[in-house]
Amino acid sequence: QAAPSKPQEKAKQPASPPLPRQNAKITPPSPPKVISDKSGRFQLSRVGFLGEGGFARVYEVKDPRGARLACKVVTKESLKTKKAKTKLYAEIKIHRSLEHPNIVGFQECFEDNENVYMTLELCPSGSLMDMLRRRRRFTEPEARFFMVQLIGACHYMHTHQVIHRDLKLGNLFLDANMNVKVGDFGLAALIENPGERKKTICGTPNYIAPEVLFDTANGHSFEVDTWSIGVILYTLVIGRPPFQTSEVKAIYKRIRDNDYAFPSDRSISSNAQHLISQILTPDPQMRPILHDIVDHPFFTDGIVPAYIPTSAHDAPPDFR
Ligand code: ADP
Repeated sequence: QAAPSKPQEKAKQPASPPLPRQNAKITPPSPPKVISDKSGRFQLSRVGFLGEGGFARVYEVKDPRGARLACKVVTKESLKTKKAKTKLYAEIKIHRSLEHPNIVGFQECFEDNENVYMTLELCPSGSLMDMLRRRRRFTEPEARFFMVQLIGACHYMHTHQVIHRDLKLGNLFLDANMNVKVGDFGLAALIENPGERKKTICGTPNYIAPEVLFDTANGHSFEVDTWSIGVILYTLVIGRPPFQTSEVKAIYKRIRDNDYAFPSDRSISSNAQHLISQILTPDPQMRPILHDIVDHPFFTDGIVPAYIPTSAHDAPPDFR
């Protein structure tokens, strides 16, 4: 009898991608009220707290001319290992090389004795994740608007040899005019040689492409961002990610089996369903490229609003 296929599956079972670290919860002291570097070239006053991620805390600050900025603060205490330093330098190198209307602008980077600081364009309206929580789901015209901007940013990154590798609603910030700003380059990778493949298992469980998890020998490349874009589109119009379950291992199993469905009790257009199912193609080589996505009837036959009113934070706008 044929051996059960389980052991092989086990062997390929990847280590879990980084989850929020439990031990990172010791709150470091706040940065000074007036943040400046050793030479005094940068002077920022801290005016508020914006949020925190795995590595950094982010504050709203004002520069000497009164301009409001976001300031990402990483304690030097957390940069003791070579790995942590390498990771932060990679993030800075990649983020500062990118300049696009739909990517969070990177301004400066400096340090004092305690911290490393990065000043970024301020996104005062939170992320698409925050907005989805209030709205439950988005209309298809809104989804088209956000997706066009996201795909534009992603195309720009890819032409600059950058894979973001952590595209998700929580990393898509909004400016005051409801424009998308892709942020958090903490997992981004630079492809330095054509054809180079990345091997590190990373990403956020719900958004990870199958080849990252299950083709670790071959590695992955730009197509992982395309996969995440498919997960994002599904999440925008349905209100939860396609492979969502309470357990990470079960999410990976559903990703491996391409096991997702469209809820029957809601009217998701057939164009949206068709496009999502094309993007969520397991074989990265068969996945549509970004140009194909924006050429799909979901975009070409539907309303793409010129802008989204700020009232959309709390209620669906009427685009008729
Ligand atoms: P990490 O790399 O540690 O995950 P993030 O870059 O995701 O940190 O930032 C953590 C939080 O800080 C975000 O979830 C968000 O709430 C807030 N934040 C980050 N960047 C900005 C920004 N440019 N404008 C406004 N808020 C921001």
